[in-house]
Amino acid sequence: MRLTHTKQTLGPVSNRQYFRIFPSCFVRSHTTASAPKPRAIPSAPAEASVRDPYAMMVCNPNLSTRSGLLSARILDGTVIRDQIYAELAQEIAELQSLGVRPGLAAVLVGDDPASKIYVRSKIAACQQLGLGNVHLTPPANTTTAELLAIVHELNARDDVDGILVQLPLPPQIQAKRILEAVDPAKDVDGFHPINIGRLIEERPSMVACTPLGVMEILRRSGISVEGADAVVVGRSNIVGKPMALLLMHADATVTVCHSKTRDLHRYTREADILIAAAGRPALIVPDDVRPGATVIDVGTTRITDPRQAERIFAHLPERLEKFRKNGSALVGDVHPDVAQVAGALTPVPGGVGPLTIAMLMSNTVKAARLRRGSRAPETVATPR
Ligand code: NAP
Repeated sequence: MRLTHTKQTLGPVSNRQYFRIFPSCFVRSHTTASAPKPRAIPSAPAEASVRDPYAMMVCNPNLSTRSGLLSARILDGTVIRDQIYAELAQEIAELQSLGVRPGLAAVLVGDDPASKIYVRSKIAACQQLGLGNVHLTPPANTTTAELLAIVHELNARDDVDGILVQLPLPPQIQAKRILEAVDPAKDVDGFHPINIGRLIEERPSMVACTPLGVMEILRRSGISVEGADAVVVGRSNIVGKPMALLLMHADATVTVCHSKTRDLHRYTREADILIAAAGRPALIVPDDVRPGATVIDVGTTRITDPRQAERIFAHLPERLEKFRKNGSALVGDVHPDVAQVAGALTPVPGGVGPLTIAMLMSNTVKAARLRRGSRAPETVATPR
């Protein structure tokens, strides 16, 4: 039935208008020569982590839109996080039976409001899982030497398996020196050059949490990476570069784009798997995406401009209303209308974010196991 509608029967409408009218037909009937060709749509998932998009529309008002507009599978990060937490709880219980209680130390310098929220969520996750936790909050005028002393003390503490120094640090602190001072065995953020080098060489290491979380989303959602054309938008040390390495190690053919890439669109439209990690709200629009592609939205930006919100939430009246009520909203790098074209999509909020914290917990447990020589099995696959 869907395939009876073609562009010709509709007359001269643009691709955008066309898939807004018949979003579910777009993949099969799109014939424009310059448009990206659809490839195999990811196979239907068996895992509980992937929900029916229409069910998501009903249960999650953030994703709700006009009836029938949403067509991508929504990859719900909170469901995947809960799976990982359930597995970690068993692993933690096993370690506790051996007399080991994994512990994380979080250092928050100053009082940046966003960083405070992130650190609070990380400590709350530790408490939820029964991990030991140390929360240090040196003042904003802390010097590099003072922070180095704190890191050295945490390196020496036996009850601390993982150390995270929340970024960004105040400008007077030499961030690289601090990150290099963290014991690589306790570097649960995976930022230490030794761990980055080990990742390049595909040797077991602490890997940055956000890219690791993206790989878990793909793996647990049944999305095949081997042989896929993957495009990563962003080349930062903490997201883009490790992301590209993990995808390459999983046998994807990887292209990395950045702010100097000429004609970004040309690359993104070729991607089977598109990872957006630029920190630019709604940078990726439907025309940038190959129909049926998997789109992972790493970006998180809090917007406050009403005109920007109107553009981004043009088809999401509930979210626009919420924005007007709160005066701000958290958005990703991917325009929400991409849900009409993509085969699978992570939402913001509720996609990659929960996985970042889950992988921090996983890395802390892994660090405890490795450091204390336990042979307890691993929950989360270590990248090879
Ligand atoms: P970053 O250090 O600012 O790096 C951004 C990257 O995007 C850079 O490589 C930059 O290119 C590139 N870029 C910027 N504008 C672009 C454009 N118009 N076209 C193509 N590339 C562009 O940011 P980050 O730390 O990697 O974080 C990226 C986003 O992910 C942010 O929104 C951040 O908040 C979010 N994030 C989310 C989580 C989570 O848990 N959900 C975790 C970490 C980060 P150049 O290298 O040329 O400057």
